Amino acid sequence: MQGSEHVTTSIDLTRAPLKDGFNRRIDYLRVSVTDKCNLRCVYCMPEQGLAWLRRDEILSYEEIVEIVAAAATVGVRAIRLTGGEPLLRRNLARLIAGIARVEGIEDIALSTNALLLEEQLPELVAAGLRRVNVSLDTLQPERFEEIARRPGLDRVLRGIEAAVSAGLQPLKINCVVMRGKNDDEIAAFAALTRELPVYVRFIEVMPVHENLEMSRDAYVSSDEILERVASIGRIEPGGGPPGNGPARYFAFPGAPGAVGVISPLSHDYCERCNRVRLTADGRLRLCLFGDYALDLRTPLRAGAGREAIAGLLASGMLIKPERHHLRLGETSSRMRAFSEIGG
Ligand code: SAM
Repeated sequence: MQGSEHVTTSIDLTRAPLKDGFNRRIDYLRVSVTDKCNLRCVYCMPEQGLAWLRRDEILSYEEIVEIVAAAATVGVRAIRLTGGEPLLRRNLARLIAGIARVEGIEDIALSTNALLLEEQLPELVAAGLRRVNVSLDTLQPERFEEIARRPGLDRVLRGIEAAVSAGLQPLKINCVVMRGKNDDEIAAFAALTRELPVYVRFIEVMPVHENLEMSRDAYVSSDEILERVASIGRIEPGGGPPGNGPARYFAFPGAPGAVGVISPLSHDYCERCNRVRLTADGRLRLCLFGDYALDLRTPLRAGAGREAIAGLLASGMLIKPERHHLRLGETSSRMRAFSEIGG
């Protein structure tokens, strides 16, 4: 893809927008750009890492833009770049610029651990990035090193400050809550929403092969999380950002931000699901759990055009399951870690 190339899709409004077999409209695509990460969070990846994909297995930026362009013709409007750690992939701004030129795409966001955010933010914003979600599980430097198995809290905080100063709104901070590891920081995280225009979202730790025992022992339900939030002040339902995501939001009256809880185990949100995922190696993953996937890379590399890829996306809808069946201490997926599919 040349910097000046203009990628457009002529949107055929007669083409049906993507809907799955349960009448859910799918307009959101999460795109993993790498399976590698510069952290080794205890709930996510083993300390030694995983068997990384080879370079030729990973979609090029041109291939990703082509799939996004096909998705836009069938009603996908929002893209989130994720990983692994997406800022590890060289010149991510070039991909963002390519996606920003796709007609029909209205929103480009990024999920990051923010270690590299401060330095890359200006070029990412110039390329068309509008929003970031930052993953952060502790506000204590030594604890950061225990949970992420790497240092760097100061860099993450500078990344968050840079995003707030750049006016990236809404800024969401995702915190995976683990009993005995960071659950004593729920109040401190919630208190940030009284000072800053940020959404702090507490996530229930989910079981994958790499963390089965740990995720069972450390699990804290979102109901308990909300009780702990309410212990520092009255909260009211609402106050979340526009759009329907998986979180339920609550706010302290008058606060500039809000607290959200994401409850994949205790209250699943599958009936509101509006998303599918594209893995770094080009598989369309229909559900976070349960290995429902469709290979797009092989047909793309064999010369399939935009129409054909859009047709494959539509056929993928037929295998999107109604819900996942997550249970503590079990996993219904072969997935070892979320970094494999773009969590
Ligand atoms: N590196 C990027 C980041 O840190 O946001 C994107 C990828 S990361 C896999 C996406 C999100 O998945 C992070 O917020 C991370 O905390 C979350 N995550 C990973 N494993 C998880 C698990 N077992 N349970 C709950 N959340 C998990």
